[in-house]
Amino acid sequence: MHLQPRSYTVGDLRLGSVVTMDVLSIEASRHTDELVELLRKHLERFEGRTQVSIREERQRAALRLGLHWPDREADEEVGREVAHALAQHIVANLEPELLSQLIRRHYGQFDPVEREEILDSARADAPRRGLTSRLAIRIGDYLSQHRAVNLDGFVTFRLKDYVLDLERDVDAAVDEFLIDREYREFVRLLRYFVEVQTPKVPEVHVMVQADGRFELRDEHMQPLPDEVTVDFRLESQAAEINLEDVLVSSLITLAPAEVTVHGDDAAQELPSVRTAKQVFGSRLHYCSGCRACEELRRAGV
Ligand SMILES: [Zn+2]
Repeated sequence: MHLQPRSYTVGDLRLGSVVTMDVLSIEASRHTDELVELLRKHLERFEGRTQVSIREERQRAALRLGLHWPDREADEEVGREVAHALAQHIVANLEPELLSQLIRRHYGQFDPVEREEILDSARADAPRRGLTSRLAIRIGDYLSQHRAVNLDGFVTFRLKDYVLDLERDVDAAVDEFLIDREYREFVRLLRYFVEVQTPKVPEVHVMVQADGRFELRDEHMQPLPDEVTVDFRLESQAAEINLEDVLVSSLITLAPAEVTVHGDDAAQELPSVRTAKQVFGSRLHYCSGCRACEELRRAGV
């Protein structure tokens, strides 16, 4: 890395009243305290070898950092550390704001609570592996040819593809949010439907086999027809919902006062069983172990 001094500072606090030159200058406008902390942490490792001084110059919200170190031999290594600190700063501190901005700009129809949920999901889903290192390499390349970097401008103009990736993460998070919301709405409607419905039978047993298939039995443990109803349709004021979930639609058609689920522990985690639990609430319980459960377990081995 070949770095030419660009600006001159007289009377640097650390170095006394000598003329020192910033080898590198960084401009930032947001989360500047976190940025300085990250830089200090990354540059600590040079202690004893070459003293890297950081001069802070604040202008309203903007911060200009002048970095200086006397040893030109260390340029490449210091540049690498600075690049890594900046990459970490972007991912940890700037990215949540970038995502928030994108969500506000493209999905203004959602309220603040919904936008927060979308943001959390975008943060959680984005493939982060190796991202900081990839950004660090690009920042390092830039710093090897430029002595000054304006972080906001760098992200906007030099990391366009990164911002595009964030936009894709936001789109995916919104899709997921809409599906979740639809599901919650669907469950809410079914729960309401079940609450107002008069039970037709006292109990239905759901026998969940190890492969996830299920069989329904009546209160005397006698098998019920396989497909009670598949094309069950629930008309509601708001929407007509096609119940694709055979278990849930069968249970709603049978309208039992109680539902007992038999099987192993994994049965409770099946999507159909989970939805049924949400719809039937306290009227659905899991058998704590009986002969039928035992048989289901044995059949699964
Ligand atoms: Zn049982």
